[in-house]
Amino acid sequence: MKTLYFFDLIVSFGSNGVIPYGYLLIENGQIQEIGLQSEIKENLNSISENYQIIQLKNSICLPGFINSHIHISYTNNYSPVKNNEQIDWIKNLVFESRNFSSENKKQIAQNNIDKVINSGTTFIVENTPFDESIDLINKSKIKALIGLEVFGNNDSLSQQIFEKYQAKLLELEEKYTSKNISFTFSPHSIYNVSIELMKKLSKWSIEHKKKLLIHLAEFDFESDLTHLGYPSIGLSELYKLLNVSQICLNSIKNITPIKYLDSIDCLNDNLLATHLTKASNDDFKLIAKNKVNIISCPRSNAFLNNGVLNFNTIKNNNLKVVYGTDGLSSNSDLDILNEIKSTWSIFKSHGFDISAEDLFRGITFDAAKILGLEKEIGSLEENKKADFVSFELSEEKISIVLKMLSNNSDSIYQFLLTELNSSFINGVWIDGEKVK
Ligand SMILES: [Zn+2]
Repeated sequence: MKTLYFFDLIVSFGSNGVIPYGYLLIENGQIQEIGLQSEIKENLNSISENYQIIQLKNSICLPGFINSHIHISYTNNYSPVKNNEQIDWIKNLVFESRNFSSENKKQIAQNNIDKVINSGTTFIVENTPFDESIDLINKSKIKALIGLEVFGNNDSLSQQIFEKYQAKLLELEEKYTSKNISFTFSPHSIYNVSIELMKKLSKWSIEHKKKLLIHLAEFDFESDLTHLGYPSIGLSELYKLLNVSQICLNSIKNITPIKYLDSIDCLNDNLLATHLTKASNDDFKLIAKNKVNIISCPRSNAFLNNGVLNFNTIKNNNLKVVYGTDGLSSNSDLDILNEIKSTWSIFKSHGFDISAEDLFRGITFDAAKILGLEKEIGSLEENKKADFVSFELSEEKISIVLKMLSNNSDSIYQFLLTELNSSFINGVWIDGEKVK
């Protein structure tokens, strides 16, 4: 069955630009055609015999959003971090997660998946050590790259640990064969993965052409680790409390976390590095040289009192940024549209020159590109997947934005960033199927 959708405005984030009074023709989960309603060749009477027509009045259609860094298994039982209490926050997070029953974890994950879909997100990059969330993601309609979180501080056990995780990944790939989910590794961070294990994972990602996910240059104690070569007192106590091995970076000294990864040959374009709030100008030069992909979670960084990604340096190095919400343990919600709205305010308050269009691209086309999925998702174009979201605004607001378009105004994206809100969503579609 072919379905024809009519919108007052389609914002394609692809070669079709912004289309007033546009249509999408969907068949078999794909976009067959996209264009102006006035240019549909057949007349509407003959069309209605062959197609289902859905007219979404006063509605704006965008590609389904991509949340490039999320943990769906966490709760919001945490308070924003003051001063240097980040290690306490990690401790609480680990203890809470360890204490949850499998049933608890399922409830939390299901609740979060529903909220994510209902706020217009159709693809997530999930980071998880829990099987429960994987099963629920698979049962839901949402698409996902699932990073199996890897921990392993003891360098002498790196081969054993690596083999254990490889077996786990293989088991998951055999169990979950849906085209909508794929798996990779997510080495948690440089303070939870030893040198040899990190090297093995990096080599694996290149050999298997897989993305590798990591939290990087997020905390001060992480920079202390690569400057000292051993954990600071606070981090060392955390390891003891969690009953894990102390990490030892051997001969590493007086370098940044990013230079450390460069020194062990782990910076490349397969790496998806999240946070980077502690990265220096020289670090960003290395990131640019090695084409490392940057994911920012500005609300999580603010919550954890970790500073802000230096967007001016990003711009000077011609780098792109995509966005994630991180987990509820460091954010008030998992709504990626809210994330870019806040990012706008946070970046502007630091004097960073970010455009509303770039923020939207960071949750649509640019995010698809860093995942290597730009031929399938991230924009509304012919032959791409029919993953889209629709927002219903008042007649007055719609007439304002249509007028902006006819005046060739460049403030359309700023208007969308200000006016769109997930409470106005009147539909979310994944592979052409309505999921909200
Ligand atoms: Zn995270």
